[in-house]
Formats: sequence, C-alpha cells, structure tokens
Amino acid sequence: KNADGTYNVTLIPGDGIGPEISQAVKEIYDAAKVPIKWEEVSVAPILVDGVSTIPADAIHSIKKNTIALKGPLATPIGKGHVSLNLTLRRTFNLYANVRPCVSIAGYQTAYDNVDTVLIRENTEGEYSGIEHEVVPGVVQSIKLITHQASTRVARYAFEYARSQNRLHVTAVHKAPIMKQSDGMFLRACREIAAEYPDVKYDEDLLDRVCLRIVQDPAPYADRVMVMPNLYGDILSDMCAGLIGGLGLTPSGNIGKDASIFEAVHGSAPDIAGQGRANPTALLLSSMMMLRHMQLDSYADRIHKAALQTIAEGTRTGDLGGKASTQQYTQGIIDKL
Ligand code: NAD
Repeated sequence: KNADGTYNVTLIPGDGIGPEISQAVKEIYDAAKVPIKWEEVSVAPILVDGVSTIPADAIHSIKKNTIALKGPLATPIGKGHVSLNLTLRRTFNLYANVRPCVSIAGYQTAYDNVDTVLIRENTEGEYSGIEHEVVPGVVQSIKLITHQASTRVARYAFEYARSQNRLHVTAVHKAPIMKQSDGMFLRACREIAAEYPDVKYDEDLLDRVCLRIVQDPAPYADRVMVMPNLYGDILSDMCAGLIGGLGLTPSGNIGKDASIFEAVHGSAPDIAGQGRANPTALLLSSMMMLRHMQLDSYADRIHKAALQTIAEGTRTGDLGGKASTQQYTQGIIDKL
C-alpha cells in the first residue's frame, strides 16, 4: 500500500485480444475510482545466453508488488519455446489455481443455478513434463504427485472454504485406479481436513462428479472442490461450458511469492484487433484480485454493473450480442 492509500499492481496486457480487454478493465477501474496504480510490463520473451526467458523488469515488478493481472499469452507451437505461462507458474510458485463458475443472471444457459468453485493443483501431477520414449513406439509420461504439493493445495482449499463461508471441501480423484498417486493426494487432504473440524470433508470420483454436475449443478453450490492438475483443467472447462463459455470465466493463480489473476481463455487470435472480444472474464478475474486484496466494495460495485449490462442485452458476439468491446465497456461505465 502506498502512502496515498493506493496499491501498485503489475499489469501484463498479453497477446492477441489481451491489450483490448486490458484496456477495457483499465477504463472501468478509472470510472469506479479503484485505488490501484497499474504498473504495465511486457513479458515478451527475450534471449539470454541463447535461452528464451521473461524480461527481468517483469519478474521484478511482480516480485515487488506480489499481485498481478495478466492477459492471455500465446504459446508458439514448435521446438525450443517454453510456455510463458508455465514459466510464470514456476518462477512464482503459483501452486493453486482457483476457478469459480457462477451462472450469469440474464444470460440463459441450460441451468441458472451453477455456482462451482474448483481448486486445481498447479505445479505437478500429469503436467510435470516428464516424458520419454522407452523404445520406438512406446512412450512413458510420468504423473508426479508429492505429499508436499498435495498438502499445500489442500490447505489452501480449506482456508479458501473458510474465507468464503463455503464450509465443505470435496477432494476429486481416481484413487481406485491410481492407487499410489491419487492415494497420496487423498491422504494429504485427509490430514489437512483433520485440522479444520468446522469444514465438512468428503471425497468423490472424477467421472461421477462430471456426470452429476451436468445433470444437476445445485448440490455443488455449497462446496469447494480440490484436485490434481489435469482433472482440474478439464473439469473447470466443463463448468465454464455450463455458464456460457470462456468469455465469462475468471481464475486466480495463488502462489508463495505472488498471486496472478487471469482469464481462463487464451489470446483468441481469430478475433484479435477487431474490437469484438468479451472483457468479462478478465474483469471477473480482476474482481477475484480485488477480493484477494480485501477491496471487496469496489469488486461488488463493478460486478453488479457488469451483470446488469449483460442482463440488459448489451453483449459481445460470443454471448450472441452485437456490442463491441468498447460499447459493452461503456455500458458498464454508464452504470458506475
Ligand atoms: P482461445 O481461448 O484463445 O480461443 C478459443 C475460442 O474462444 C476462439 O474462438 C476465441 O475467439 C474464443 N474466445 C476466447 N476468449 C474470448 C473472449 N474473451 N471473447 C470472445 N471470444 C473469446 O484458445 P486457443 O485458440 O486454443 O488458443 C489461442 C492461444 O492462446 C494459444 O497460443 C494458446 O497457447 C494460448 N492460451 C493462453 C492461455 C493463457 O495465457 N492463460 C490460456 C489458453 C490458451
């Protein structure tokens, strides 16, 4: 916090539609007089000793401020490119990925009562990147689960449950098949659960959870689900589909050294530069950020204005509307 009561936050506009949706968020924050000073940095990779990496300025800014809002980053496909998202995750130890999905009133989907919160282990599991060819035609990919990372994410899930007053944690797993790896994940969750007697704890199978949520999401509105990396990646997109897609789903990467908030979607190269992108997912991610910073009153006000704007029919193309990014943004600003 600065002497004048403002907070410094790092802003990474990102690639593709990133700059357009970041601009929308900045304009809305100005209108709502949110006490945040953006420190804008680029994470366009630079070559250091022949290895592509994130510029030191960007790392320094995030380290100093400990909070960042990030637009999507395009990952070039091909050899020699590391994913910048993965680099950020590793650099700042972003161990928990929080993904809430809440029905947007006024935007009709199959259900109007979706309210799920999913916490995904963000550093290991199926995404540990350990793969090798044993003999031609036979490839092995290793799912790495550690007790340390499992207890860390489990503890965060219970703390989150308490802070949001959703006093029920469900660990989602496939332990009957992956007896040792998911077995250890569950053991870690049980150990942590014992420290939170005020929070109900249970376990459920990934396939069964998928089936039940699409049949009736209501029972999941009371809880926080916690799970290994890959399960969380897939299950959260399924939940996103239930509320209307990627233009609406926020996320927070919570870490030891910093927390980075970002939309679930990518850089949308097919619509970049056309003024058609939906900034809601990045805006909702920034609301998670404000709540994380205990600036709830600003988050509540902006949230209400955005929901009203959507409900009144000022919507971008992905939600079946005709509004440009700018018109939708102006709609929210008018309500503020
Ligand atoms: P994408 O999420 O960028 O796009 C998928 C589809 O959804 C596209 O049709 C796109 O137009 C639409 N869409 C996405 N966000 C939208 C929005 N806000 N408003 C309106 N429509 C929207 O997925 P992709 O095409 O598979 O990936 C493009 C690039 O983004 C890739 O380089 C990928 O690696 C990267 N990516 C980055 C992140 C991240 O930075 N966290 C996440 C996912 C993908």
